[in-house]
Amino acid sequence: MLVALGLLGRELGGRAWRAFTHYQTPFAFKNPHPVAGPPLVRQVVIVLVDGLAYHASRAMPFLNELRRQGADAECRVGLPSLSLPGRAVMMTGAWQEIHGQATNFNPRPLPVEHLFQTAQRKGLSTALAAGPAPQTLFAPYVSERIVYRRMDPADSRDLDKLEAELRWMGEATRALLREREPDLFLLDFSIADEAGHAWGASSPQYQAAAQAVDEELRRLAPEIDRQHSVLIVTADHGHTAAGGHGGAEESVIRVPLVMVGGPVRAGSTGSAEQVDLAPTVAALLGIEIPASSQGRPLLELLDLSPATRRAVLEALYEQRRSFVDQYVGWLSGRSGPAPAPAAAGGVEARLGALAQRAEAARQDRLRREERARLAGFAALVLAPVLALAGLRALGLFTEAELALAVLAGISAALLYHGLFAAAGLEYSFSAVNRDEWLGRFFMKDMGAATAACALAVALAAAWMERRLRPAPLSALARVAWLSAALLGYLFLVRMAIVYWRNGVFLRWHMPEQSWGFSFYLDALALTAVGFAGVALPLLAWLAARLARATALSPRP
Ligand SMILES: [Zn+2]
Repeated sequence: MLVALGLLGRELGGRAWRAFTHYQTPFAFKNPHPVAGPPLVRQVVIVLVDGLAYHASRAMPFLNELRRQGADAECRVGLPSLSLPGRAVMMTGAWQEIHGQATNFNPRPLPVEHLFQTAQRKGLSTALAAGPAPQTLFAPYVSERIVYRRMDPADSRDLDKLEAELRWMGEATRALLREREPDLFLLDFSIADEAGHAWGASSPQYQAAAQAVDEELRRLAPEIDRQHSVLIVTADHGHTAAGGHGGAEESVIRVPLVMVGGPVRAGSTGSAEQVDLAPTVAALLGIEIPASSQGRPLLELLDLSPATRRAVLEALYEQRRSFVDQYVGWLSGRSGPAPAPAAAGGVEARLGALAQRAEAARQDRLRREERARLAGFAALVLAPVLALAGLRALGLFTEAELALAVLAGISAALLYHGLFAAAGLEYSFSAVNRDEWLGRFFMKDMGAATAACALAVALAAAWMERRLRPAPLSALARVAWLSAALLGYLFLVRMAIVYWRNGVFLRWHMPEQSWGFSFYLDALALTAVGFAGVALPLLAWLAARLARATALSPRP
């Protein structure tokens, strides 16, 4: 049974992880009748300051100057708040579960439409200055590239080297801007993310990195003709004080969004979501909104004539209707789109109705799938109980042994949570400061489960020895195995609840991150306890021997 539990944990965890890193979105839609509004400017330059948290951006003097001359929005990003998923949100206007790049692992060309694609379709020139992974996302719709080299891990902990790298990026991107004059240019500055990972978001180094970016912005801004261009400064995510990101912590999901030039209204403020960037840029350039976009143009930050404003909203409505028809069609199991009934009213009311329709279809499918998972939930929870009852009926252990094992299993579960916290583990991507530390993070979880189980079994064995004098090896083995099985069962029950309520194999909707994380970490813990549990009788025997030795030691 223990080995079976271990195998089950490995299988469920492995499947959940693969479904997450190899997610194939079903929502890569085309818009059969795309509409674009009139171009408002000739050029949009987006500076993506990787890892720049909102609070750090407020301490950048030049950026604050741009805020006063243009628009200042507080922007919320989606989950997981990682670099590649965030870049994909910015350029597609679609959240992670729609655009399909759910993690930083396994970068692939985006299957859903993005701004580079719709810009090229309109004959605009596109440019991207970024590392190799973001380049992969947007290939092959970028005409001009600067591919940043991968930094030496040692150099990424050296602020002087990071600043030198930033200056090189600044020079290279300004040269591209002057020589090629791309219509749509996305350029990455990575120093704040590197500093955030190395020293955390409350460190002086992180602040210094933000100041260095501010200096680069001061050099970049004069190169842009604000009459005909819009400059946008934003970030993919922030950082925690300890240095990670990926989770839903406030300092991670709040980022700046500053726009200046063209029709951007000076001194305007607002709040935005990361999906709003793509439709806003599409409106500025007069290109089609990407077909799977879920955002809205930030019209409150722009000075537009009533006619232009109407044209922008009509383009948005046509895109959204096409998306929602296909989205609802897929969710309700049709082979094609489910056209909405003709809607009346102003364009804003019609857009509201579309959003409601999409959300209702999503909720409906979630509820149906939850009901369908109930049988699987019941099987996971009941099968081990039935197996245990069968073994008891065969007389393979006594009730007293079972009672002791239940106590040991519950103690081990409590102990596991203590060790979990002490090892710095959390149910959030932000607790893993670097992608390459993920393996170590998972090993710590398995170690915590094994250690908690071993300690509880050793204590139970010592207690048995004191009671039975001596405790027979067969009884010790039964209690050890039962204790491990009960601890494994507690993990399994929690996994079954997450599976039932959230679904854990990413097929079309992102499970809540803390739940998804707890499922995966519990699966690893179950694997560890299942396999290590087999060897526990040896430990129980040693603990009993130790208890006997200490009990027999002569007293003064
Ligand atoms: Zn990062």
